[in-house]
Amino acid sequence: LDDRDGVIWLDGRFVPWRDARLHVLTHGLHYGGSVFEGERVYDGHVFKLAEHTRRLHESAGELGYRLPFTEAELMDATLEVVRRQGIGDGYVRPVAWRGSEHIGVAGGNAAVHVAIATWEWPHVFSAEAKERGIRLGTSRWRRPSPDTAPVRAKAASLYNICTLARDEAHRFGYDDALLLDYRGQIAEATGANLFLVVGETLHTPVPDCFLAGITRTTVLDLAGDLGIPVVERHVRPEELGAFDECFLTGTAYEIQPVRSIDQYEYRTGKTTTAVMEAYGRLVHQVLA
Ligand code: PMP
Repeated sequence: LDDRDGVIWLDGRFVPWRDARLHVLTHGLHYGGSVFEGERVYDGHVFKLAEHTRRLHESAGELGYRLPFTEAELMDATLEVVRRQGIGDGYVRPVAWRGSEHIGVAGGNAAVHVAIATWEWPHVFSAEAKERGIRLGTSRWRRPSPDTAPVRAKAASLYNICTLARDEAHRFGYDDALLLDYRGQIAEATGANLFLVVGETLHTPVPDCFLAGITRTTVLDLAGDLGIPVVERHVRPEELGAFDECFLTGTAYEIQPVRSIDQYEYRTGKTTTAVMEAYGRLVHQVLA
């Protein structure tokens, strides 16, 4: 990934892709205090750019530091790096971290740095997986409580749990993991929020200890437009057998049907399909 042509925006400058490097004594590497975003580019346009840029600022705030660039400056930088890279359908990765000016648990003496990289990346899952759904296995790793970790932030430190869970799920032959929360209630997948469907009603866990995704909010809005009822509530794993359909939502996953969770099977039914189609229309329509 580091040996490519192109440019990356780094602290206000466009640097050659291969030169966007850090020192080994970078604070964020040792103490895990970096925050990041994942944005999607459709037909050269960044979907929900303002929302993602705001969340990057908020994530930094949750970790106790301020970004040295305004939201407007970061949005301009994103659009310019996408333009310079000539991205049609792709992904944008902004990241912020404390640098190598200081090492030690206290963070305040290290400067905050920001970078934005982008690359072509049309789809996460195959066309077949998009149609038939993916398989999830419940993980032994759990989402921590809000008094244990900065759960509202899109913080690298929390992704340690996601990497452990996803790698374990892959070892067991699943496509992704379902994480429960610290109370044993259903939380989310490793990079996406979860919706369950019974009849024509959507049920989705209350995001009180995990990321309330931007795609999740978009789906709540679309469900309103489509007249699909939504219940936000705590969902217990014992209930998983009572649902007909299941899908994940995320910037990269988009609307991704789920074929099974452990022994429970779901179909890509009418409601999932309606949400998928509406989302597909929206991401392209906002460009028109
Ligand atoms: N939860 C986690 C752990 C994620 O990594 C993501 C992807 N950012 C989401 C949920 C979905 O968030 P969004 O819809 O904002 O991409």
